[in-house]
Amino acid sequence: METFLWLLTAIFLCGFMAYHRTSLKVFSYAFAVLMVVGTVLNLVSTFAWLVFLLIALPLNIDGLRKEYISAPLLKLFRGIMPDMSATEKEALDAGTTWFEADLFRGAPDWQKLHQYPEPRLSADEQAFLNGPVEKVCQMLDDWQTTHNDADLSPEVWQYLKDNKFFAMIIKKDYGGLEFCAYAQSRVLQKLAGVSTVLASTVGVPNSLGPGELLQLYGTKAQKDHYLPRLANGEEIPCFALTSPEAGSDAGAIPDFGVVCHGEFNGEEVLGMKLTWNKRYITLAPVATVLGLAFKLRDPNFLLGDQEELGITCALIPTDIDGVITGRRHFPLNVPFQNGPTQGNEVFVPLDFIIGGVEMAGQGWRMLVECLSVGRAITLPSNSTGGVKSIALATGAYSRIRQQFKLPIGKMEGVEEALARIGGNAYLMDAVTTLSTGAIDLGEKPSVISAIAKYHLTEKMRHCISDAMDIHGGKGICMGPNNYLARGYQGAPVAITVEGANILTRSMIIYGQGAIRCHPYVLAELEAAQEQDEELALNDFDHALFGHIGFAISNIVRTKWFSFSTARLLSTPYNDQTRRYYQLMTRFSANLAMLSDIAMLTLGGDLKRRERISARLGDILSYLYLASASLKRFNDQGRQAEDLPLMQWAVEDCLYKIQQAIDELLSNFPNKIVALLLRAMIFPYGTWLTPPSDKLDHQVAQLLQSPNAARARLGEGQYLTRETANVLGILEQTLEDIIASEPIFKKVCRAIDQKLPFTQLDKVAEQGLAINAITEDEASLLFKAEKGRLAAINVDDFASEELKVQTKQA
Ligand SMILES: Cc1cc2nc3c(=O)[nH]c(=O)nc-3n(C[C@H](O)[C@H](O)[C@H](O)COP(=O)(O)OP(=O)(O)OC[C@H]3O[C@@H](n4cnc5c(N)ncnc54)[C@H](O)[C@@H]3O)c2cc1C
Repeated sequence: METFLWLLTAIFLCGFMAYHRTSLKVFSYAFAVLMVVGTVLNLVSTFAWLVFLLIALPLNIDGLRKEYISAPLLKLFRGIMPDMSATEKEALDAGTTWFEADLFRGAPDWQKLHQYPEPRLSADEQAFLNGPVEKVCQMLDDWQTTHNDADLSPEVWQYLKDNKFFAMIIKKDYGGLEFCAYAQSRVLQKLAGVSTVLASTVGVPNSLGPGELLQLYGTKAQKDHYLPRLANGEEIPCFALTSPEAGSDAGAIPDFGVVCHGEFNGEEVLGMKLTWNKRYITLAPVATVLGLAFKLRDPNFLLGDQEELGITCALIPTDIDGVITGRRHFPLNVPFQNGPTQGNEVFVPLDFIIGGVEMAGQGWRMLVECLSVGRAITLPSNSTGGVKSIALATGAYSRIRQQFKLPIGKMEGVEEALARIGGNAYLMDAVTTLSTGAIDLGEKPSVISAIAKYHLTEKMRHCISDAMDIHGGKGICMGPNNYLARGYQGAPVAITVEGANILTRSMIIYGQGAIRCHPYVLAELEAAQEQDEELALNDFDHALFGHIGFAISNIVRTKWFSFSTARLLSTPYNDQTRRYYQLMTRFSANLAMLSDIAMLTLGGDLKRRERISARLGDILSYLYLASASLKRFNDQGRQAEDLPLMQWAVEDCLYKIQQAIDELLSNFPNKIVALLLRAMIFPYGTWLTPPSDKLDHQVAQLLQSPNAARARLGEGQYLTRETANVLGILEQTLEDIIASEPIFKKVCRAIDQKLPFTQLDKVAEQGLAINAITEDEASLLFKAEKGRLAAINVDDFASEELKVQTKQA
């Protein structure tokens, strides 16, 4: 019995210390005390002491440990370490990590999440949204833009320039607006609800491009010259990286510059001859200044002793001889300005390099550092804005449109699709708020920006497909009254740019996440690359033993959470969200363990096993998306009306995490390891289900009538009730239809007939004729009928109108 109790204490103690991640030294001392107690009680033999000392001494004596354990492992590690190009290394080094690192490490601190301040708009930013943003939404005619002109109108272009829409990131000192990331996101969301062309045109100069690069790396002269001109719209920028031969693999651009002497503006200067062929460049056809990425060579060693200087970024005025711009691509009927540019041996001075000659060869680092911010703002915000507006419009349409004598939104099949739109709209706004909030706290969140870009653009694609299905033919027939089709057509654009989505999911999220968020992997990689052998061994030893302790802890935590179903975990709130926090902590521990085991068993091969790393990245991503949803719910005062939206968002993420782990284990290359892992993670099998039909029903209902939760969902979008604003009118019609239902029933009762809910104008006349309703009630029926017809009708055209009309000069 005593032996049993001692063993139980030993297991408990080891488990407790591993769970709490105590250091190797503390672990060894505590175990030694236990051994002494065991010896006093006559339970521990000399042999047991021998085994203990044989393990504990080499581990705790630095010299022994380094020589006999760490040094051979360092050699082995160097052999299996994946090759990493300089551009890959720079991409991995770029940016910072934030709360996603806690999620990756298996023990997220939920209080910390809730203590991050909720981002807020300043008075200036709010005034900009209420003033110029509202006004440009009013000015924009999306059908005219996309169908007739293939461009924004000259008035809209001028308004954007005059009101500094292209200068949201430029500092006030240079005449810019200097908005915080959250404010930029709100502006883009509102614009995206009105027109994809508008949102893309404004988004790009405020994202990765000359403005951002100049502010961070430009010389004083460059900043003084360009920034005020970019701020007031005198210069229109674009940034050209992509080449026909180098898309996703942008580090492989063939475009080049050769350092040489030449003549510029009548003077002999040291400069470079640039040759490029770029494509897909947003704003290039109208740009006055071209940000250009190319590889700089110095074959005559005019700058130093390095021949290949590497990727360099320069600013080239487009009016210089030899710069070719002006032709356009035609991206999916969403004709924002986008096109190719070429140049052949165009000579420019070296001070055209952003940051001057010292920054020659630093281009890749500059780009990846900027991308970690821009990627979290522009595309996620545009996607979110689009989905927020669509959620309200589709909810309204589902209530207004009737078939089989019922609003289509009451049919369960439609509810399923509506719930996906509503739940995702809630989640997407939560993610943009949390991610831009991180940027405003000074982070450059490279992993979060990849998560936000990938998941929000994908969610936008799925939500718009759902909205199209719900609208049926109304979604398909194009014309000025169709508020869906251009977004639907253009969805793949957001999927493709700033890192095409397959690549982002398969390589970037987990590739960067594993190295940046793991507490020890980066230190191990750096130690392995260290030339000073003593330093390498010291650093590697430190990281390795930290890593081993971390891995053991995650195994113990996984096992304990599976056994206890994580129900004993304390959570910040003990309401409906309690179980969510517990499950997320459990899955976070699973991720930390799976990640180490995948790295240990696959080594450098993990880089090539993209479907394994994609699923690990999915687990991390859904943990982040669910965290954002919980944070939003909390920041917005834990409103009871919002519960279905938050629950849908979190439960969908939790289910998808389970699915990702399940698929990962089913496809794990080492079947024995997979079996063991499954037994540890899912000892009772998988158990989570997607959001229930009941929850779907609640979310769908919430979208179909005006209420506080619905208003919060669409907050900030352009829904002003103006004749030209189809979405604003739809909102008005929703209210009118709901208000006219009791009047309609009154008439039906009075004439003792069950009329169909159509031709409300005729119903009004009938009601008035028999004095069943008042004049006011009748006019509401007239108004509702007008709105109803506008909502369900589609545009039609004379055959001639649909032919291509080539304008003659
Ligand atoms: C409308 C539009 C606007 C753009 N604006 C700009 C701009 O302003 N400036 C600029 O420089 N560029 C711009 N781009 C370029 C954009 O960033 C690239 O399109 C993008 O990098 C993808 O390159 P690609 O289209 O050549 O696809 P490819 O690189 O040919 O990729 C094809 C497919 O293969 C996948 N893939 C590639 N490598 C991997 C991998 N290792 N693992 C898994 N999957 C992989 C990709 O995800 C993609 O699905 C724009 C593109 C478009 C379409």
